[in-house]
Amino acid sequence: MALTALDIYKLLPKTNCKECGFPTCLAFAMRMAAGKATVDLCPHASGEAKATLGAAASPPLPKVLIGAGEREVVLGDETVLFRHEKTFCHPSAVAISVRDDLPDADFAARIEAIRGLAFERVGQRISVDLVALRCVSGDAGKYARRAGAAFEATGLPLVLLAPAGPLAAAADAVGASRPLLSPPPEDLEAGARLAAARKLPLRVRARGMGGLAPALATAREAGAASLVADPAPECAREAVADATTLRRLAILARNRDLAYPSAFDLGNGFPDPFLAAALLIAKYGSLLVMDTADPADLLPLLTLRQNLFTDPQRPIQVEPGIYPIGAPGESSPVLITTNFSLTYFTVRGDVEAARTPALLLISDCDGMSVLTAWAAGKFTGESIARQLAECGIADRVAHRTLILPGMVARLSGRIEELSKWRVLVGPQESSALPSYLRRLTAAAFAPSRG
Ligand code: SF4
Repeated sequence: MALTALDIYKLLPKTNCKECGFPTCLAFAMRMAAGKATVDLCPHASGEAKATLGAAASPPLPKVLIGAGEREVVLGDETVLFRHEKTFCHPSAVAISVRDDLPDADFAARIEAIRGLAFERVGQRISVDLVALRCVSGDAGKYARRAGAAFEATGLPLVLLAPAGPLAAAADAVGASRPLLSPPPEDLEAGARLAAARKLPLRVRARGMGGLAPALATAREAGAASLVADPAPECAREAVADATTLRRLAILARNRDLAYPSAFDLGNGFPDPFLAAALLIAKYGSLLVMDTADPADLLPLLTLRQNLFTDPQRPIQVEPGIYPIGAPGESSPVLITTNFSLTYFTVRGDVEAARTPALLLISDCDGMSVLTAWAAGKFTGESIARQLAECGIADRVAHRTLILPGMVARLSGRIEELSKWRVLVGPQESSALPSYLRRLTAAAFAPSRG
């Protein structure tokens, strides 16, 4: 359990010497309880206090690193159960499997397909994170060669799913890339010793919490320090229950024996893997291994992940300003919307679909969507009139006609009154923009200056 300010205070020297920068030991204890100070600021704390308070301040869910450099994957290191309490920091990592016994051409094609699982969405690149190499051949040399080839071709960190012999051979070949060692339960001790010797992360697989507790203890005793817990569920319902139990034990109970990032193998015939993956992305799955390499499966899952793993207090946003679409001229339509990324990219896509060159004005609304920004008083007749006057749009077009989102039609009168621009109320939904823009005649944007 997290320590209260009073628990912390009892461990401090209680001399109120102020050397920590706080007026009293109690004030310091209160800051520590709030997570805003650490015990190392007190030079007089006893060894016992440092050990107890240091352990209490460490993250409830340990951080596990797989891979290195730009493609390094971080698992765990979460501090809250619910996104609105702060934010989720490290997205569920998705690993796509490949079998080591495939013929050369098929293996290369599969690796190429995994390499292609990267997409652009709302201005961000979303992609799968790891390659999971399944040892089916039983041939240690072949497995090691295939591990080297998979890493070289993709640059992605590896999950090595193999018995002890092939695992050791692959660790020799690609150990420097910091793969996740994933031995079967019967090879746990050998895998843990290998992980300890090479300082590599280890997936510990055992059935349920009852199996995981002794298996994790075995791995720790063998010296493995960076652990990932796989409760080996048999269906999506069990997987979500296990992931939730592990996360609650970590965050609420501060249970150090079972508090590890979780891993789930949703391949090898796991029932309803797409459903399980979607649920585990929402509910605490740290690493998901999947057999599918179909973009139609992966894009929705990565989109869901992208939506969940954003800071709810800092929406993804684009820079305010004037965005040309196509090659607009002085009689091209001018549209306005807010700087919430999803709004911007949706509207932009719909204007592009109309094949009508246009200028898109993006308002600074702290990353809010149109209706939210209007309700918050950030997308108003006054703010829009000010933007029309100050952003330079009047020098880019000869007309003075603005297309306003239909959701905020009520702003049109105030904008016209303050700016002297004519306002056309656009459609309620951005998806209607292509037909709306195609219906507008050139007369709508006839020159009006001069
Ligand atoms: Fe108390 Fe330590 Fe701060 Fe001194 S430095 S006031 S002993 S907490």
